[in-house]
Amino acid sequence: MQILTDPRTLQQTCLRWRADGQHTVLVPTMGYYHSGHESLISYARSVGDKVVVSLFVNPTQFGPGEDLAAYPRDLERDAALAEANGADILFTPQPADMFPAGHATWIEVPSLAGTLCGVSRPTHFRGVCTVVMKLFQLAMPRTAVFGQKDWQQLAIIRRMARDLNVPVDVVGRPIVREQDGLAMSSRNIYLSTEERAQAPNIHHGLALGRALVQGGERDAAAVAEGMRRYWRENLPLAQEDYISIVHPETLEPLARITDAALCAVAFRLGKARLIDNMLLAGE
Ligand code: AMP
Repeated sequence: MQILTDPRTLQQTCLRWRADGQHTVLVPTMGYYHSGHESLISYARSVGDKVVVSLFVNPTQFGPGEDLAAYPRDLERDAALAEANGADILFTPQPADMFPAGHATWIEVPSLAGTLCGVSRPTHFRGVCTVVMKLFQLAMPRTAVFGQKDWQQLAIIRRMARDLNVPVDVVGRPIVREQDGLAMSSRNIYLSTEERAQAPNIHHGLALGRALVQGGERDAAAVAEGMRRYWRENLPLAQEDYISIVHPETLEPLARITDAALCAVAFRLGKARLIDNMLLAGE
């Protein structure tokens, strides 16, 4: 595995691969790998000829007062894991390589970015879209792989790729969880012992919501209220950021649960802001 820091070197390598007819798969990450990241990289390995993993803690997707400086980092371990899971290139640019002075172009998808996480993180998805589009231009992938843990991000990137005719197949992969149900996240290390003990109940509350729907409840407000009651009891250390039942593609709030419905949630738990989601109906 090669470790590259220079965007132009990455682009030249990937242009050559593309000219040779190689299928490049891109996996964008911010590092501090867990099994969720590993699952994306090994999936990429299984479908592509060349696997590019980017590791970049993108400053433009952090708002003021967020955890940019504290975000966990361990390049040596990440490089070993990326290689073990089959990466050909680990791309680890510096912020000034990706956003040199004078950078002035931004990509936004306001209709999907103004809801859910976008309410408390109003500039987050603009930073995500812009860096992902830059990575698309550099790595020239035919496929790009994202986790369903960040469902809104996946929906936005899909829409961006469609709207801008980007020739990349955007693939979403299932959420990898700890044995107790907590969605794996680099930010889980922020949790205290007590907070960590309650955190799996985020997932259990979502499962309760799905069970309510499977039991015939169609009223989204009633399902949300059932989940909220569970979390009030079983997640007392957390503060709700949002609990929303939305259409999985448009992210528009649903009043009735008919064919496809996603419950997406965000909680503040101590220093961590944790997100999770589950399809309540539909695939
Ligand atoms: P991050 O490094 O947190 O920006 O995540 C990089 C990629 O890994 C994103 O596409 C995430 O959605 C994905 N990811 C993060 N956590 C998980 C998880 N628990 N299961 C599956 N994918 C994940």
